[in-house]
Amino acid sequence: MDRKLDPVQVFVDFLKSRGLNVTRSRLAVLQALADLPRHFEAADLWAVLRSRVSPATVYRTLDLLEKAGLVRKVEFGEAHAHYERAFGREDHGHLICRICGGVWEFPVGQAQHVVEQAAHEQGFFVDEVVVQGYGICPRCRARRDSRV
Ligand SMILES: [Zn+2]
Ligand SMILES: [Zn+2]
Repeated sequence: MDRKLDPVQVFVDFLKSRGLNVTRSRLAVLQALADLPRHFEAADLWAVLRSRVSPATVYRTLDLLEKAGLVRKVEFGEAHAHYERAFGREDHGHLICRICGGVWEFPVGQAQHVVEQAAHEQGFFVDEVVVQGYGICPRCRARRDSRV
């Protein structure tokens, strides 16, 4: 997503475009993202908001934030998804462990350039590049090898 955009404005515009109310609770969920680690679960978000917002609102708002492009799912292998903020951050890659679900970040460098170049050639406007590798992390490999 464009780094110059104000996330609150993006969310307000998104809610209005869907005929949804801009409520204090919805904005509180967006603001709570700043207090979370890079990769979080829905339950972490609720823990931050516990006293102010109902769990149903937290989960529904998280879904809306994802649709608005402000949050993205980064991990699909586990029973519960991990999310991250999709604004105010450099584009980066993920290495995702298929066993423990851990997520490691790395700078995308050339990979980002390849995607942007391809987009440019097709006349395509890209606002987000996500590079992900799936496999087994060193910790899980060590654990697996020690069992053999
Ligand atoms: Zn692992
Ligand atoms: Zn990330």
